[in-house]
Amino acid sequence: MDRRHFLGAGIAGAATLTFSSVWSQSAANLGAPVAPSVGFKRMKLGAAEVIALHDGALRRPLGEEFVRNAPLEQVKAMLASQNLPTDYVDIPFNAFLVLLGGSKFLFDTGFADNGPASTGQLRANLAAAGYKPEDIDHVVISHFHGDHINGLRAKDGGLVYPKAKIHVPKTEYAYWMDDAKMEAAPPAMKGAFQGVRRVLAGLPAGQLVQFEPGADLVPGITSSAAYGHTPGMSIFTVKSEGQSFVYVADVTNIPSLFARAPDWAVQFDMDAEMARQTRRRVFDMLAKDKTLAGGYHFPFPAFGTLEPAGNGYQFKPVA
Ligand SMILES: [Zn+2]
Repeated sequence: MDRRHFLGAGIAGAATLTFSSVWSQSAANLGAPVAPSVGFKRMKLGAAEVIALHDGALRRPLGEEFVRNAPLEQVKAMLASQNLPTDYVDIPFNAFLVLLGGSKFLFDTGFADNGPASTGQLRANLAAAGYKPEDIDHVVISHFHGDHINGLRAKDGGLVYPKAKIHVPKTEYAYWMDDAKMEAAPPAMKGAFQGVRRVLAGLPAGQLVQFEPGADLVPGITSSAAYGHTPGMSIFTVKSEGQSFVYVADVTNIPSLFARAPDWAVQFDMDAEMARQTRRRVFDMLAKDKTLAGGYHFPFPAFGTLEPAGNGYQFKPVA
């Protein structure tokens, strides 16, 4: 690994990407990602239940920029070794609904009607699973990138989950809502700051709850700091009757690359070195305990375990 290049690609590297252009960068000539025939998947967890909800996926041409610290040829070889296409990557988006103690918790939100055409399916998949947006008691946000928060508000400004309390990491809120940081950000990053304000500013009093990463949200759901991908990203452990599920959010982008090679940095990691250390720490823990994990960008149904493989980990999807 070229260490100097790697460390140099921190916040400054992330600043070169335009979040909106990233999401709109689909490639018609490469075809469209295939949507699962059933877009939700239920898993029992003791007395609780966890349901993966597919919001869609984006197919992006694979270029030099996607993995910032590895040559494109190595990246393609890694994909080819798993019989995956090498000229594009599919990035899926999956939220998780947790039913625990009589309450419904939605972890991250997809795009609603704010994203590209191949996204915004969460609402239909929520309905297919048997729930309405009004049923959601709590929305829990891992971090403030647009693909995770935009689904809180429709394009017309209406709240998609009108009755839900919205739980956000305090550290993440402090960073993105800091006007001085927005002013100082390069032009390509400003849209991300404005997107956070579009969603979170003007919420009714008491609807927004800031939690301290590390704290329990309720008995049975614990947050943990997983900084690096963003300054305040948090992950969540759900426990019921001795069984555990960890929602790892964007500790890794697609696992075929960044679980197999945890030292590689996806272009979206804002502090690549911190994200790398977080990835190693979290995956070590998951692999050791064989914990059921869910990832926002894991291939649907987005549940599985991590097993040690080579210098990294192999994602084993649930059957
Ligand atoms: Zn993401």
